[in-house]
Amino acid sequence: MRRKIVAGNWKMNKNYHEGMELVAEAMHMINDELNTEVLTIFASPFIHLANVQKLINGYSNFATAAQNCHHENSGAYTGEIAASMIHSIGASYVLIGHSERRQYFKEDHAMLAKKVDVALENHLSPIFCFGELKEERENAKHFEVVANQLKESLYHLDATAFSKIILAYEPVWAIGTGLTASPEQAQEMHAFIRSNIETQFGKEVAVNCSILYGGSCNPQNAKTLFSQPDIDGGLIGGASLKSRDFTTIVTSFNSI
Ligand code: PEP
Repeated sequence: MRRKIVAGNWKMNKNYHEGMELVAEAMHMINDELNTEVLTIFASPFIHLANVQKLINGYSNFATAAQNCHHENSGAYTGEIAASMIHSIGASYVLIGHSERRQYFKEDHAMLAKKVDVALENHLSPIFCFGELKEERENAKHFEVVANQLKESLYHLDATAFSKIILAYEPVWAIGTGLTASPEQAQEMHAFIRSNIETQFGKEVAVNCSILYGGSCNPQNAKTLFSQPDIDGGLIGGASLKSRDFTTIVTSFNSI
């Protein structure tokens, strides 16, 4: 079943104590104010993850995600974290393909395909992030770019494996810039993505696939974005760092 999801990606923000306080506050407010079955995911830095997982244990409306994993199962990779380690603390999700990983760490389609595989092998659901650059949209290449990102990193999967993936469409020009895709632009792309998924994996998989929007989503614009028929929630960066803002985004589903 297609689920409504809001995931907070803290990136490299919050020390241990600040992070734990943020989760405790957000959980309290969300549990008080939310009437729907929205899944809230905390994608904290690794340092917090095991203890965030302890806080959310027993709540079916909360989950944790790592922000990255290594593409190998284990080995001599100093400083890296394996998917099996993430799974061992009870986390269910891992972000793969975030534009900052693509840009600063040169993660390409093939590397991301390996990360998707290693995550699935270790019982983690990838939240697969993708989206076009500003100049690609300006040159009307955005549909082509997005279709290619999906094909190159995900189309080697079969339908059963693909159905474990959450998609996060994040136009790069909207991430951390304060520029948001309009609800019409986002809906147009989400419908395109869903129809690509249908062609590749069949109607049932496409209908049940959660496709999140990411890119300067905030308490003011979340409701209009999440009201679009093919937008199933959001991946939230900056606005996930304040418990009040994040809660308002999650609970915007209450009035849709
Ligand atoms: C992100 O990093 O995934 C993101 C969407 O960031 P922001 O909400 O700050 O644009």
